[in-house]
Amino acid sequence: MRRALLLSLALPLLLATCKTSPYTGRKQLHLFSESQMNEMGAQAYVEMTSSSSVKLITDATYFGPLQEVGGAIAQAANKPSFKWEFKLIDDPETVNAWCLPGGKIAFYTAIYPVLVDTNGMAIVMGHEVMHALLEHGNERMSQSTFANGILAASSIALSSNQYHDQIIGLIGAGATIGVLLPYSRKHESEADEQGLYLAAKAGYDPEAGIQVWERMAKLSEGARPPEFLSTHPDPRNRIKNMQKWMPKAKQLYAQSQRKTNRKLAIPPGVK
Ligand SMILES: [Zn+2]
Repeated sequence: MRRALLLSLALPLLLATCKTSPYTGRKQLHLFSESQMNEMGAQAYVEMTSSSSVKLITDATYFGPLQEVGGAIAQAANKPSFKWEFKLIDDPETVNAWCLPGGKIAFYTAIYPVLVDTNGMAIVMGHEVMHALLEHGNERMSQSTFANGILAASSIALSSNQYHDQIIGLIGAGATIGVLLPYSRKHESEADEQGLYLAAKAGYDPEAGIQVWERMAKLSEGARPPEFLSTHPDPRNRIKNMQKWMPKAKQLYAQSQRKTNRKLAIPPGVK
């Protein structure tokens, strides 16, 4: 009886809040609106990049390539609702990069030797940006909200505007964690494939994807596996898949009007 009631509540809710991704054609559960997610992303971005312990690098030698690749990726992404921002965090120990909902991007200086050049940077940025464009954060948060209680979920979904402030308030505190939880294997694979195409469209050689993941794999064999691999496992598997997607990526690259590449200068303190 109880189960039947829950199901009768849940089914229309699920149908009403499923959205088909324009990139993959896959149906995703979305209990939050895009603007809610972007607001959370913006809030978490401030939290994560403006504390006194975070040192940002604005020197054009190191930050310039990030702005350049970011501009090209943003243009290829063609997403007017995103308010793109790029920051380079001075951290010679943390091999990491991420993009929060709404296009809020950070790279850590320690990832530069893995990227090597702007081609490599575009591959990683393409991947991270695709998590945001594919709304993986929304899906992941929706799934956990749904699992945490159908009634709570329905109140969010059915009166999203009325509850907007409360939701943002509730989630705001945990936004940093909420938007940075590890993604599922499916999400990783989608971001790898679409990210490769996005980088190629932006004018960066998709072949660099193989090399970046080979260098990442080598790092993972060392004494201290990079931070990036705690959220992005299995570099060897990714390489195999990338080879499958390469013909389409190469075609997009060939069609791109602006093909550029330049070596990255290694930031101070980075080995
Ligand atoms: Zn990822």
